[in-house]
Amino acid sequence: MTRLEKLYEGKAKIVYATDDPDVYIQDFKDSATAFDGTKKGTILDKGRMNNNMSARLFRLLEDAGVRTHFLGPDSPTAMRIRRLDMLKVEFVVRNVVAGSLANRIGLPEGTALKKPPLVEYYYKDDALHDPLLCLGHIEELGVVSPDELAEATRMARKINEILQKFFAERNLVLVDFKLEFGRDKAGNIMLGDEISPDTCRLWDAQTQDKLDKDRFRRDLGGVEEAYAEVLRRVLSEGVSAKEGD
Ligand code: UDP
Repeated sequence: MTRLEKLYEGKAKIVYATDDPDVYIQDFKDSATAFDGTKKGTILDKGRMNNNMSARLFRLLEDAGVRTHFLGPDSPTAMRIRRLDMLKVEFVVRNVVAGSLANRIGLPEGTALKKPPLVEYYYKDDALHDPLLCLGHIEELGVVSPDELAEATRMARKINEILQKFFAERNLVLVDFKLEFGRDKAGNIMLGDEISPDTCRLWDAQTQDKLDKDRFRRDLGGVEEAYAEVLRRVLSEGVSAKEGD
């Protein structure tokens, strides 16, 4: 597949056009940012690790009947994806209190949510610093229709069920994660973006060690090692949660 012009360069990925107007290439970078882009750094080999992890997890979701933009591998750091018209709303799914939720409602990090998962919506708007949206805000903005919002929320909950089980079989707790959805040519809602330790909080089920981007955000050290460990577990067979008990 031939790469044509660069369409978009973000904090962690570059998207290229190809000779097929319905197919893009998404190339993962080693660069990392946090705190609204104010903290910058490099996580060595992150591009390759996140590409491989996302590919495995998109396949898992497709096999379970969740439509995603994933089409196949392109290079060690890149995948072929379906062209989508991305929704201007990001979805955060939470099982355990952490990060901005701990700051917003004052419960300690690690508190299990009473009725998981909690699904939150954020406005994709750099100038506004991606604020939390309530349902009335989304209706007022009109950027996502009520049907699209209901469909993407249903998908987000299903994705959580699938990923939670998959990670549990690999001794990882899926604390929270961010999803981005888009519309294909026919208007179907599909999962886009990536699924990786950049976008998910993952804790070791035994030790509660953080194995995600919080190691970078909070200067905990062992960042590359944590990403490599998550990749190793994601690519492993896994042990069913019952057998592991
Ligand atoms: N997240 C993300 N991109 C964002 C904001 C959040 O991938 O721009 C992910 C983050 O890695 C975490 C989850 O969404 O897994 C919830 O993030 P939170 O709202 O707690 O924000 P944070 O405190 O991480 O900035």
